[in-house]
Amino acid sequence: MMSEWMALFFPKCPSCGKQWGTTNHRNCLLNGEILVEPYKKQVKCELCGEQWQILNSKFYCSCGYQFYSSEVEDAMSTHQLLKHRLLQKIEDINDYKKILHKIKTIF
Ligand SMILES: [Zn+2]
Ligand SMILES: [Zn+2]
Repeated sequence: MMSEWMALFFPKCPSCGKQWGTTNHRNCLLNGEILVEPYKKQVKCELCGEQWQILNSKFYCSCGYQFYSSEVEDAMSTHQLLKHRLLQKIEDINDYKKILHKIKTIF
């Protein structure tokens, strides 16, 4: 059984228009970052270790806007999560290429 925790990719906030790369555990004493498991549909806090189901989650923007579960549901789908991770990997590769390019220019 595959199990993989990844950073939560949040949809753009309809209230303030911001999009966050990372999501923090609300009211967490350790201010941990939220990770999701797309296969089991679970969410956990990386620092305090609390775990719960995606469906039981409430999501807030730092501006105070509360997302409707329907707004997050799509972003939370296994498909979306994996797609985002793939895009991030491609970005990493692009960064790597940029670094290679820099080295080439230096030498
Ligand atoms: Zn907001
Ligand atoms: Zn926490």
